[in-house]
Amino acid sequence: MTDRARELTESFIAELRDRYPQEPEFLQAVEEVARDVITVEKAHADYARARILARLTEPDRTIGFRVAWADDAGRVRINRGWRIQHSNAVGPYKGGLRFAPSVTPSVLKFLAFEQSFKNALTGLMLGGAKGGSDFDPKGSSDAEIQRFCGAFMAELQHHVGPARDIPAGDIGVGPREIGYLFAAWKRNSRDFAGIVTGKSQCIGGSAIRTEATGYGAVYFLCAMLGARGEEIAGRRVAISGMGNVAGHAARKAAALGAKVVSLSDSSGLMEAPDGFSAEALDWVLGRKASGQGIAAPPRDMGLAWHPGRTPWGLEAEIAMPCATQNEIDGKAARALCESGCRIVVEGANMPLDAEAQRIVREGGIAHAPGKAANAGGVAVSGLEMGQNAVFQPLAADEVDRALRAIMRRMHDRLAGEAQALGTPAGAPVDYRRAANVAAYRRVADALLDHGIV
Ligand code: NDP
Repeated sequence: MTDRARELTESFIAELRDRYPQEPEFLQAVEEVARDVITVEKAHADYARARILARLTEPDRTIGFRVAWADDAGRVRINRGWRIQHSNAVGPYKGGLRFAPSVTPSVLKFLAFEQSFKNALTGLMLGGAKGGSDFDPKGSSDAEIQRFCGAFMAELQHHVGPARDIPAGDIGVGPREIGYLFAAWKRNSRDFAGIVTGKSQCIGGSAIRTEATGYGAVYFLCAMLGARGEEIAGRRVAISGMGNVAGHAARKAAALGAKVVSLSDSSGLMEAPDGFSAEALDWVLGRKASGQGIAAPPRDMGLAWHPGRTPWGLEAEIAMPCATQNEIDGKAARALCESGCRIVVEGANMPLDAEAQRIVREGGIAHAPGKAANAGGVAVSGLEMGQNAVFQPLAADEVDRALRAIMRRMHDRLAGEAQALGTPAGAPVDYRRAANVAAYRRVADALLDHGIV
């Protein structure tokens, strides 16, 4: 970053910090984008005059509501629900719902901000939004989850629609919750329309949607390797997380011949020094999904469970953080550099904190940011919206081909953007900066065409 970019970013963020002192995740996400695009804005008279970046740091609207529901014992429970509609400049609001006790307006605001940029990169007509609740589905019965989803949708239904806002899943919201949310919306509206994506296929969902984020991240990785004249087969890949993104990234990477050496969850690390076999992946992911313990894997599967550890530092040339935000801090980033890691591909949203990003950059590691590498999920959601609009499903292989093509095009566009921005000789392609600038340009051009809104 140049001195001028640093100075401009600091004064821009200082103003925002005064306004939102309680929103650290949001400030972090804005700072990360601002330092890459602020000089682009200043150099473009129309962008500068229109104050595009300042406008993008205020969501179009923030909707907050009470969710009252009754648990199985008949006790009244009260949770908080939100939907942040960040920008519909390039298409209807689009982004996931997260149900977890850690959900706060700051977390959702950072995710909604990121989502507008990510969705712009897909090349599809998708705006950005995010929503959710501090409700914890873990430990709740199926009936409780259904009642909660009904109560949540009773309020959210005023704000969603196939051309208005189309939520999807995220942490704590999978096909089951999406099905209950969709059912509640249909009961109230009496319509059948694509107002949520991530539905199971029998109720209008797209083939490959569940797999899309993890598969897409691996396709992006393949494009990065391809650009260096390399292949994924035989590469050692450390993956964190054990949920949707991590599981499907691991399955796709292993199917393409990579050695996936780890998965992890919030309690520890599952190491596979010689790479997970398909059978070992089935065992770990199957038990995890059904809530069973994984601490004592069968001896013949080549697995070792390490409570309290993370994958960063294992011998692997590729790291795919696929668990949660800020899971890699400075210490973990240093361990990555020391273990010979050459490529980081983010499956999760903002998994590297600010210090980790700096260390990875200075360590010469090629770093694909989540807003590009994990955009496969929202891209297939965009394809699901198209299928719903014409009431015509696509076959799995058609969706998979389209997903590969979208990830490859995105990679190539970013590589081109990075070249135009000037990659120093011998330095890895700066995908992070290219993604921020390319996404900013698309949203900025759309905003300019709208006048002052
Ligand atoms: P899941 O809820 O399916 O899985 C999350 C996984 O991460 C779980 O295995 C969880 O373990 C683990 N985890 C959570 N916190 C930590 C931690 N502090 N340290 C280590 N492991 C942890 O979520 P998804 O896979 O859907 O999402 C993961 C990430 O990807 C999120 O950042 C999400 O926003 C992002 N993402 C998801 C998309 C999707 O389509 N699903 C699309 C784009 C981005 P435990 O069970 O112990 O909590």
